Amino acid sequence: MIRLAPSTHLRFNRIQKRLLRWYATHQRSFIWRDLRTTPYVVMVSEFMLQQTQAAMIESKLPRFLKRFPTVRSLALAPTGDVIRAWQGLGYNRRALNLQRAAQALNARGRKPFPNTLEELMALPGVGAYTASAILSFSFHYDVPVVDVNIERVLSRLWMPMRDTHETIPIPLIKSLDAQILPRGNSGLWHQALMDLGATICTKRNPKCEICPVLAECKSAKNMIRTRTIAKESLPSKEILYAGQPRRVWRGRVLKSIADKKVINLSQILKVLDASSNPSIEAMIQTVLNDLATEGFIVRHGKSTFKLI
Ligand code: SF4
Repeated sequence: MIRLAPSTHLRFNRIQKRLLRWYATHQRSFIWRDLRTTPYVVMVSEFMLQQTQAAMIESKLPRFLKRFPTVRSLALAPTGDVIRAWQGLGYNRRALNLQRAAQALNARGRKPFPNTLEELMALPGVGAYTASAILSFSFHYDVPVVDVNIERVLSRLWMPMRDTHETIPIPLIKSLDAQILPRGNSGLWHQALMDLGATICTKRNPKCEICPVLAECKSAKNMIRTRTIAKESLPSKEILYAGQPRRVWRGRVLKSIADKKVINLSQILKVLDASSNPSIEAMIQTVLNDLATEGFIVRHGKSTFKLI
């Protein structure tokens, strides 16, 4: 377990206040956030949330829960029905694991839903994240919950990350989270971190300028700087001809025709200083064809042009 300096504790206290205040008015509205109060519903929603778009889950989760409202109903259902109810969510193996997890739970008889990491992680398809999500969101236990969004946000808040790719390893982030999470409010804290990571502190383009915890963040300066560098060094998707994109050449071609009553191709190439460059010449021929097709110019003979 890492030992945090008292100043770090104080800083994260301030972060919590700011973040929870922001979350109160900016939280994303998801159906599973309203539905999931029981461990079973959290488990089903977390299985669905692995690798499936939120919009799809919005429509599928209520139907799935209507068809399989309890652990027992899911455990005893024909597997074909479970797979059918899963259609549209992808990765059918998750549906099989979910039913196997339900069967393992059902086999416990009258024992209550497990409430330790070890017991939950012994269920088929339940990893560390899903287990901790069940403990935090349903049992309201003060346990760290770290997915990739939370790992990224807490890394940036905690220490100066050099660029948008850098993060601190998950075990260290869990250790941090275990010490700073607001006691009794773990579920809200983690959902607020997830929403910040999904909407503002995004992977490639963090919007630090509108971030509610900007004043307390150790990485904001580096994020703003590296974000700008990354944008500037993005390879241009436009093909350039003598340093100019095609749309600029198109304007120049049109102007060269507009400046004369009638002009032929070699004159256009001469005016545009493009006579000795075969690739520019080919591009200009295509531009002329486009302009003619679009009705800007008319062609006289094979290679003479004038404005319409
Ligand atoms: S200030 Fe920027 S880097 Fe820091 S948490 Fe907010 S969005 Fe992320």
